[in-house]
Amino acid sequence: MQYDEQSNGLNGKRHRVRPAAIRVEQLTKNYYLGRTVVPALRGVNLEVKQGEFVALMGPSGSGKSTFMNLLGCLDRPTSGSYLLDGVPVSKMNSNQLADIRNQKIGFVFQSFNLLSWMTALENVELPLVYSSASRAERLRRAQQALSVVGLKSRARHRPAELSGGQQQRVAIARALVTSPSLFLADEPTGNLDSQTSTQIIAILQELNARGLTVVLVTHESDIASFAHRQVKFRDGRIVDDTGIMHWTPTTPPMAHQLNAGAVAERRSLAPTDEKQVTS
Ligand code: ADP
Ligand code: MG
Repeated sequence: MQYDEQSNGLNGKRHRVRPAAIRVEQLTKNYYLGRTVVPALRGVNLEVKQGEFVALMGPSGSGKSTFMNLLGCLDRPTSGSYLLDGVPVSKMNSNQLADIRNQKIGFVFQSFNLLSWMTALENVELPLVYSSASRAERLRRAQQALSVVGLKSRARHRPAELSGGQQQRVAIARALVTSPSLFLADEPTGNLDSQTSTQIIAILQELNARGLTVVLVTHESDIASFAHRQVKFRDGRIVDDTGIMHWTPTTPPMAHQLNAGAVAERRSLAPTDEKQVTS
């Protein structure tokens, strides 16, 4: 891993600091449809520090999902550079990208993408199947991840037996089971009602409070207001970036304070304090 060196200013010794979670420079992405070029990203520069909670906003077609797919190492840019945790990933091949995804990234989408024939627990365990972890260890970690999202008691349920909010929480647990350092969520509340959305955001805030860097795409400004920083896209470019200068961990409102259901939800985040959440 590549670290930025910084002087501590006292005795001239240099110490190591963690690099930015995300650093992209002049990132572009073109899609090719026959002879037509679709320039989805036209030179994006962004730095996200470790532990930030950033909301990406902007109209449909402005390049948010394209950008998230690049951040999540699901796709490669046409040009430009991307350092993830200081590691240059923009030139990696697809096997290397798959390794990075597995080690560092948790990703959830608007559609929950759970396998319908598997239980919640089996869905959550899935990313560990190809790891070296033993069966017992995989099970323990999957149960713990379900417990973090307050769903340990639903471990044996199949997706069809769960509400939309619960399915998204299973998807979050599946994204967490590999202990990522970066959590990406592309419109995770797009299919959910507002109270359930608030519960999902409360979980993301809790994860962020535990040190996870979170990047969230949302259309809704009330959802974006729970982040430390709002970044706006238009026509493949960043046109606005607010909140960056005065970020403190306590700046945004805490979603769990907005309704009683969400408070119950938050309590259930503690693995030892499993509460029933009905949504
Ligand atoms: P957003 O998530 O902000 O709605 P997208 O990143 O999905 O925007 O899309 C940005 C632009 O790229 C749009 O013009 C869209 O039509 C185009 N686009 C996205 N994905 C593809 C693709 N796989 N092939 C061709 N064009 C695409
Ligand atoms: Mg999108």
